[in-house]
Amino acid sequence: MKTIIEPFRIKMVEPLKMTSPAEREAVLQRAHFNPFLIPADDVLIDLLTDSGTSAMSAEQWAGMLRGDESYAGARSWFRFEKVIREITGMPHVLPTHQGRASERILFELVGGPGKVVPNNNHFDTTRANVEHSGAEAVDLVIDEGKQPRLRHPFKGNLDPNKLDALIREVGPERIPLVMVTVTNNSGGGQPVSLANIRAVRAVCDHYRLPLFLDACRFAENAYLIKLREPGQADRPVREIVREMFDLADGATISAKKDGLVNIGGVLLFRDDALAQRANNLLILTEGFVTYGGLAGRDLEAMAQGFEEVLDEGYLQYRVRSVEYLGEGLLRAGVQIVEPPGGHAIYINAAHFCEHLPPDQFPGQALLCALYRHAGIRAVEIGSVMFGKTDLVTGQTIHPPMQLVRLAVPRRVYTQSHIDYVIEAVGEVFANRRAIRGLRIVEAPAVLRHFSATFAEV
Ligand SMILES: *Cc1c(COP(=O)(O)O)cnc(C)c1O
Repeated sequence: MKTIIEPFRIKMVEPLKMTSPAEREAVLQRAHFNPFLIPADDVLIDLLTDSGTSAMSAEQWAGMLRGDESYAGARSWFRFEKVIREITGMPHVLPTHQGRASERILFELVGGPGKVVPNNNHFDTTRANVEHSGAEAVDLVIDEGKQPRLRHPFKGNLDPNKLDALIREVGPERIPLVMVTVTNNSGGGQPVSLANIRAVRAVCDHYRLPLFLDACRFAENAYLIKLREPGQADRPVREIVREMFDLADGATISAKKDGLVNIGGVLLFRDDALAQRANNLLILTEGFVTYGGLAGRDLEAMAQGFEEVLDEGYLQYRVRSVEYLGEGLLRAGVQIVEPPGGHAIYINAAHFCEHLPPDQFPGQALLCALYRHAGIRAVEIGSVMFGKTDLVTGQTIHPPMQLVRLAVPRRVYTQSHIDYVIEAVGEVFANRRAIRGLRIVEAPAVLRHFSATFAEV
């Protein structure tokens, strides 16, 4: 059989609200052209993020009822710790309420003024936490990773030569750790190969630097390794995952992605002393070390989710359904980051809105057009998210790509929902000259995409 079906059936449904074009226009105006400010009830297909939007399984919901809410040493904690240790091999498992809490603790420990943190591409919260500590975040993805249409199996790879050059330039003593984000969310959801993690590890070993994974999508990355990396096709995903973690000294994980839960995070260490210091910070702001800002039921759902995500039937459906969306858009003439990655399709908004300069935020403008036309919500990964003002010249420094990310929530939408999205994006594309540019009315200093307001130019 060629058809890959959703490997689940539905036993609880959530109705979607249909809106008229006039209603959507009013919603968009009230949201100041920022989809983050649109009430979710007014969205038909929500592709804003794959984070925390997964549908949980019957076993996960059952776990919610079994959750042990004891303050210390809860049964749910021990199950969670065991599952994470078995998957990752990391001795120290710290639960946090989500990925950025792990990042905040990690960079409070190792960051600080004068420090430099390399990564393939820092995710927005990772960059913000690195910079919040006073350190500098540097992106070292391979050059192929910056060319949207270039087909390369592992466009998330970190360039080991660039890493070596950076370490020699700033000095290893200023680099507290090297990070690799799997899959590379900000760089198009592209996977990182095992060979690349090994190469980065070798550079780290040479300079005696720790290697940390930003492992939010470790299972999707491992499945793409199985599909794309020579010699990996016959290995169980679980084994590939284990090798990825074996190469690292620690990891931050948002369980809202491959943990298949709505809230939760993990912080992992090999080093005893660092783990001890992290535990102290965890207790200070998250909670005791056996719950870390979560309820026992959340730990139970996470433990189950981390097991389910390694099911290869699930991963096949997951990766194929994202690819299907990408193929549909390519057929409509829309340029996307190729090949499709693990959790989202990234539209090249610079091409889609060729008539708009980066200063008019082509990605944000496209988001608004998609919502107006079809009630679809997506997110901009371009000048709104990563644009910076040069403190000397006052000019805006634009990131290399203007992307719109259509993130696919896990186990939530069916193929007909995706077909609707393909048709809608195709129609907006056919009429793309009508898309108007935007200007920022108000924006906060950090993570401005969440709350900035815009007006049409
Ligand atoms: C989502 C994400 C984070 C942050 O996790 P939150 O749970 O949203 O705080 C960090 N890194 C990457 C790559 C992510 O995708």
